[in-house]
Amino acid sequence: MKIIAGNWKMHGTRESARALVQGVLPALRPEAEVIFCPPFPLLAEVGTILKGAHLGAQDCHFEREGAHTGDVSPVLLREFGCRYVIVGHSERRAGHSESSELVRQKAEAAVSTGLIPIVCVGESRQQREAGQAEAVVAEQVQESAPKGEFILAYEPIWAIGTGLTPTLADIAAMHRHIKALADVPVLYGGSVKASNAKEILHLPGVDGVLVGGASLNKEEFCKIIESTKG
Ligand code: PEP
Repeated sequence: MKIIAGNWKMHGTRESARALVQGVLPALRPEAEVIFCPPFPLLAEVGTILKGAHLGAQDCHFEREGAHTGDVSPVLLREFGCRYVIVGHSERRAGHSESSELVRQKAEAAVSTGLIPIVCVGESRQQREAGQAEAVVAEQVQESAPKGEFILAYEPIWAIGTGLTPTLADIAAMHRHIKALADVPVLYGGSVKASNAKEILHLPGVDGVLVGGASLNKEEFCKIIESTKG
């Protein structure tokens, strides 16, 4: 079974969310665990029409409740039907100064609430060019991984939203490296689209994909789900 997670980021309206999910549902297949990760206000809407797919959030706080304006509790995510939550996405690590220590706290809060965190790791272009990719990713895995059940997503920062991807050999090598550190499912993320999903999904050590831009396009996302076919 491959995991296909769609990270909608800050996109979507009630109307477009409904149309997208309803358009994707016919493509669901037994080989794929499909997860929709819409923005917080759309969780309820998407949660009512999921049928056979799963709901994930894009972030959570590390406490169950408290004086944290603008943050969302993992307990509430669970109440709204989430099974998964993305933590440590590079856009949050960069845009909200999230450290690996904070990411681990969020992941642990998610686990203790009964959610499965999808913990994102990945190197910058500069770090890859300096030959530091494996070391950077290893440090992020060691510092961000919670105890308990979780998923890792390898997302090289330079591949996110750019149309660039590492070579297939480089993806396979990084997944092997990560799995030697943590024996958990490892997703690849970064410019996955219908045209490259199959070759990526069938690499050894790739347990699924985390998809940004292409998850907002019904045809593209359906084809990515269909790429799980043997
Ligand atoms: C992401 O942001 O998680 C991502 C993988 O984005 P994209 O697919 O657009 O590169």
